[in-house]
Amino acid sequence: MKPISDFYTQLHQPKKTVITTHQKPDGDAMGSSLALYHFLLQLQYTDVTVVSPTNWAGFLNWMPGVKTVIDYEATQHKAQQLISEAELIFCLDFNVLHRTKYLAKHIEQSPAVKVLIDHHEEPQITAFNYGISNTAKSSTCEMVYDFIIDSGWGSKINLDIATCLYTGVMTDTGSFKFPSTTVSVHKMVAHLKELGLQHTIIHENIYDNFLENRLRFIGHALLNRMDVLYEYNTAIMSISKYDLKKFDIKTGDTEGLVNYLLTIEGIKLGAIVIDRDEERKWSFRSKGNFDVNTFARAHFEGGGHMNASGGRSSDSLENTTKKFYEVIKQYKEQLQ
Ligand code: 5GP
Ligand code: MN
Repeated sequence: MKPISDFYTQLHQPKKTVITTHQKPDGDAMGSSLALYHFLLQLQYTDVTVVSPTNWAGFLNWMPGVKTVIDYEATQHKAQQLISEAELIFCLDFNVLHRTKYLAKHIEQSPAVKVLIDHHEEPQITAFNYGISNTAKSSTCEMVYDFIIDSGWGSKINLDIATCLYTGVMTDTGSFKFPSTTVSVHKMVAHLKELGLQHTIIHENIYDNFLENRLRFIGHALLNRMDVLYEYNTAIMSISKYDLKKFDIKTGDTEGLVNYLLTIEGIKLGAIVIDRDEERKWSFRSKGNFDVNTFARAHFEGGGHMNASGGRSSDSLENTTKKFYEVIKQYKEQLQ
């Protein structure tokens, strides 16, 4: 993978372009993809499409340009065609191809030039021609902002780009709370504000736009599905298919649930496992120096960041939960 600065000169020549991101894109994945999309439109790219591997949370549906995004699982043929014909593929907010689920093999087979912009640990660098991987960055949105500025096109940042960038940096920093919220994050936001960014509307669109059933589900989960293991400074929650069905829980409704676990005094590790259709999906969050990236890699086929990671299991909900209770025993000292 060559450094992204080697790619800047190629930006001048518009190409058939696909922008893609990880499955079940979150605010940062969708925000960085759409920000780049609007930026490339500014550079007169006429054939540029965001292709998501799967559907996404309804609370992202207000984002500028979201209606142009193609959901691979909903329109496979179109998405495959776009990828096979693309000359340029941007890969944002993921760094190993399997995070694009069924898209992975199409991206791998495509002869397009592949550009990575991402902030997760341990990138699969052989899969990309150019790129930047920086785990110190708050969000891929911040990195797309740097990409635009460093490539010399900062004057092209319009309100749509600003709105998309803010969405990702806000969601990935827990509303500017996590340690990754650096001086450069605040400087970027100041710049976006100068361009007319309306940040309150974005917060409301993302956080105050759910249906009643989601809040009742959270109440149920906290009351009946949470187990606090004080011995390990850990809280765990296990959500069954029955729970999801009972409360009519959709993609995105469970996002952020894991963060409640860390609000208990002294709790350093929060873990939640959800019985999704094809897999049991884990989310891990930690405080301090308990490394959930390594933890997820070692035990749950996952990864991510030091304080936020995800994983999966093809085992039953009961078995994968049991496994957590077993493996956590090894970490008693680290968690104290
Ligand atoms: P979440 O719990 O929100 O699904 O994931 C937390 C963080 O870990 C996100 O930044 C997400 O992109 C990342 N993540 C989730 N699953 C995986 C995985 O399997 N591999 C890697 N490298 N990162 C993951
Ligand atoms: Mn991210």
